[in-house]
Amino acid sequence: MIDCAIIGGGPAGLTAAIYLARFHLAVRLYDNGSSRTALIPRTHNHAGYPGGIKGTDLLDLMHKQAAEFGVDRTDATVTQIIPDGGFFRVLVEGSEVQARSILLATGVHNLPPNMDKAEHDAALARGLIRYCPICDGYEVTDKRVGVIGTGGHGMREALFLRGFTPHITLVAHTGVHDLDQIAREKIEAAGIEIVDGPAAPIHIIGNEIAVGTADGERRFASIYPALGSHIRSELAVAAGAEASADGCLVVDDHQMTSVPGLFAAGDVVKGLDQISHAMGEAGVAATKIRNLLDERQPIRR
Ligand SMILES: Cc1cc2nc3c(=O)[nH]c(=O)nc-3n(C[C@H](O)[C@H](O)[C@H](O)COP(=O)(O)OP(=O)(O)OC[C@H]3O[C@@H](n4cnc5c(N)ncnc54)[C@H](O)[C@@H]3O)c2cc1C
Repeated sequence: MIDCAIIGGGPAGLTAAIYLARFHLAVRLYDNGSSRTALIPRTHNHAGYPGGIKGTDLLDLMHKQAAEFGVDRTDATVTQIIPDGGFFRVLVEGSEVQARSILLATGVHNLPPNMDKAEHDAALARGLIRYCPICDGYEVTDKRVGVIGTGGHGMREALFLRGFTPHITLVAHTGVHDLDQIAREKIEAAGIEIVDGPAAPIHIIGNEIAVGTADGERRFASIYPALGSHIRSELAVAAGAEASADGCLVVDDHQMTSVPGLFAAGDVVKGLDQISHAMGEAGVAATKIRNLLDERQPIRR
C-alpha cells in the first residue's frame, strides 16, 4: 500500500511528487509522456527564468528535483481507479497497486486544426501554431495572426489577442461562421476581420503559415486554433468524481474531488491552464493529502 498514486507527470504531478516525497510519504508517479509543457518551444511567462525556458528542460529539471527525494516514476498508462473501502485500487497496464490517496494530474489535449500531423508539430515548434494566448500573445505583438475557429470560443480568443495586435483574422474551421449579429458587430468593432473557412489546407511557407479560406489563401506569422480541448478526466469520472459539462473536474478548496481521497490538480481542473496555476494547485493538494493521511495514521510516529 503506497500513500499516494500520482497520475500525470506534468508540472502539477511533478510538483505534488516533490511535496509529498518531502513530507516522507511513499508516492509513485505514473506518466505516459504527453505533457502539454513538453510542447512549449520556450516559455517566457513562467516566473524565475529570465530569457525563458524550453518546456522539456523545465520538465527535466522537475524530474531531477523529484528524483533527489526518491520519487519512483513509472512510464505507463493508468487505466482505472477503483475506490475500495477507504483506499484505491489503481490499474496500470495489467498490474495493480493499492494507494491510500490519488492525485490526478492528467491535463488536457488541445484539438488541432485539420492538417498533416508532422507539419503541425513542426509549425508548433516554430511558433507558427500557438495554443495559449495568455502564455505567448506577447510574442505576436503587432504581427499578423489567424484565429481558427468560430462561435463564442473563436470570438473570445480573437478579442483577447486583439490586445496584442491589430492584425487579426478569424477563420471559420467549419466553413461558414457561426456568429450572430451581436457577435459579428463586437468582432468588427474591434477591427478583427471575419473570413469563412474551411481553414484548410494549412501549410508552412517560409517563415509564415498559410491557411485556405473562402477568399483564397491567407498568410500569417502565427495561427491560434480555438477548437476546444479534450479534458483527460475520464479516470476520475469513472471512479465517481463530479465534472463540469465540459469535463473539468469539480474540486473543493483543497483540490479534493467529490470522491474522498481522490484529488486533482492542473489543467484537468477548471482554471487558468497555466504552469504556475498547475503547480499552485498541486501544492495545495499535496499538503491536504499529507494532513488527511496524518489524521488517519500519524506520519513517522
Ligand atoms: C503550445 C503550448 C504552449 C504553452 N505555453 C505555456 C507558457 O508559456 N506558460 C504557461 O504557464 N503555460 C503554457 N502552456 C500551458 C501548460 O503547458 C499547461 O498549463 C501545463 O502543462 C499543465 O500542467 P498539467 O500537469 O496539468 O498537465 P500536463 O503538463 O499536460 O501533464 C499531464 C500528464 O499526464 C499524463 N497522463 C495523462 N493521462 C494519463 C494516464 N491515464 N496515465 C498516465 N499518465 C497520464 C500525460 O502523459 C502528461 O504527461 C502551454 C501549452 C501549450 C500546448
